[in-house]
Amino acid sequence: MMPTAASKPNLFDLDRAGLARFFTDIGEKPYRATQLMGWVYHEGVRDFEAMTNLGKGLRAKLAEHAELQLPEMQVEQRSKDGTRKWLLKMAGGNAVETVFIPEAKRGTLCISSQVGCTLDCTFCSTAQQGFNRNLTAGEIVAQVWYARHMLAKEAAETGRERIITNVVFMGMGEPLSNFDQATTAVSILLDDFGFGLSKRRVTISTSGIVPRIDELRETTDVALAVSLHAPNDALRDQLVPLNKKYPIAELLDACRRYLADKSQRTTITWEYVMLDGVNDSDANARELAKILTDIPSKINLIPFNPFPGTAFKRSPNARIQRFADILVARGCMVTTRRTRGDDIDAACGQLVGRVDDRSRRAQRMEKHREEATIMPLKKMRVNRAQATPHA
Ligand code: SF4
Repeated sequence: MMPTAASKPNLFDLDRAGLARFFTDIGEKPYRATQLMGWVYHEGVRDFEAMTNLGKGLRAKLAEHAELQLPEMQVEQRSKDGTRKWLLKMAGGNAVETVFIPEAKRGTLCISSQVGCTLDCTFCSTAQQGFNRNLTAGEIVAQVWYARHMLAKEAAETGRERIITNVVFMGMGEPLSNFDQATTAVSILLDDFGFGLSKRRVTISTSGIVPRIDELRETTDVALAVSLHAPNDALRDQLVPLNKKYPIAELLDACRRYLADKSQRTTITWEYVMLDGVNDSDANARELAKILTDIPSKINLIPFNPFPGTAFKRSPNARIQRFADILVARGCMVTTRRTRGDDIDAACGQLVGRVDDRSRRAQRMEKHREEATIMPLKKMRVNRAQATPHA
């Protein structure tokens, strides 16, 4: 069906298969999809008129029936350690954050998949923002497109080239709660006509939605990271409330299945935020090593980055080292994440964006506010009634 001018599709939302269908729908050959992707993702061109190998008639047709819409970049922050953070304004007035972390041999871009998050992990600043909506595939891909564009611009100014080698879905949101859009975005990231990243260099990070891990296994081959943060259900129930629905044993089974399927999926990365006096004891480390014994794993210890209003504190460095030593002594592969970009609040777990909260939490708070205004009236009546017998 030919798209109407009123409902122009944003071509950033479509992977190669989707674009081929779009071109067929407007009466063109499906191979035009790869030509368009070449312009958009390899040349960084968004203006149909500049796509000179498409022919004048097709360019006019594209302008009439489609658009290449990107969010607006509102703020760029540059950390003294080279980390970059961009605030991107999404349709509807919300904003999400995207962070680039340069290292000696690689550059990792941490992208967001939702405006806010519904999952309420107690140590996470995004959770405090509530939830507004899922991002579209185009809005997810746009973060990579923008970052690459901004880094190229910066390289032209400074002569210092910085390349995105890895993309991790570890920004705002739970990507598996936005499954279709996140996996369409992944398809564009991996496509040679898209960003051409290797499967091992794209990581989906989940807090553990078990059925969606199985679905992901059927859909794509990217690396999987799991926000674990606790070695037993009693503790994880408190830190990651989703654990009450999908407890650790079920989560570990899903991860075993994820690795069993394809030989190129070799390890699961376990994210473990180090919270002082909460999940960082010797016993916790021993228990963690034990539950992961039969799963090829990398454990990523993340020193907690405090944010306003949180009661959690970062584990001291000596404690983190001791925790790591216990794991290593039990044969685990362990890395401790260096804190990057904390002078611009870009460190892990600090992303907040701007979220017009539409979650049930917001409705609850709205109800509390209403009750707070009604309550004094009710109380006054009760007090008068109570006062009468004593009068
Ligand atoms: S840690 Fe991830 S899944 Fe949990 S609330 Fe934060 S963004 Fe959502």
